[in-house]
Amino acid sequence: MPIDAKQPYDEQNIFARILRGEIPSKTVMESEHSLAFHDINPLAPIHVLVIPRGPYVSWDDFTAKASDAEIADFVRTVGEVARQTGADAQGYRILSNSGKRSGQEVAHLHVHVFGGAPLGPMLAR
Ligand code: AMP
Repeated sequence: MPIDAKQPYDEQNIFARILRGEIPSKTVMESEHSLAFHDINPLAPIHVLVIPRGPYVSWDDFTAKASDAEIADFVRTVGEVARQTGADAQGYRILSNSGKRSGQEVAHLHVHVFGGAPLGPMLAR
């Protein structure tokens, strides 16, 4: 069920639980304000999720409320993940679903980093 980008933050969402170490994830990298880990259901040879450590529901919530330091750290982490995984070598795609119409399923902001193969058209028509 897609979530509302403007709903209150739910401390029990699955990525909050990963941040608290309550459920495992395969870490790619960590920084002061961000965590990157492999998607459990990869849609490309490289499929990594980057999340802020702070309690932000969506891209909408994050860009309205996060500090400059959190935003800078998050954007740099996305770039660093692409370099560390080798996705940068031949090109990659970043994507963040925000709210109901996008199909966002997990109510903690995440950016998908896809790479490792040709990725096809940006959206299916
Ligand atoms: P979205 O539809 O943009 O909200 O994407 C949610 C993503 O989270 C999907 O690609 C899922 O495969 C992924 N996901 C859900 N649970 C986990 C988990 N425990 N560890 C890693 N990825 C997960």
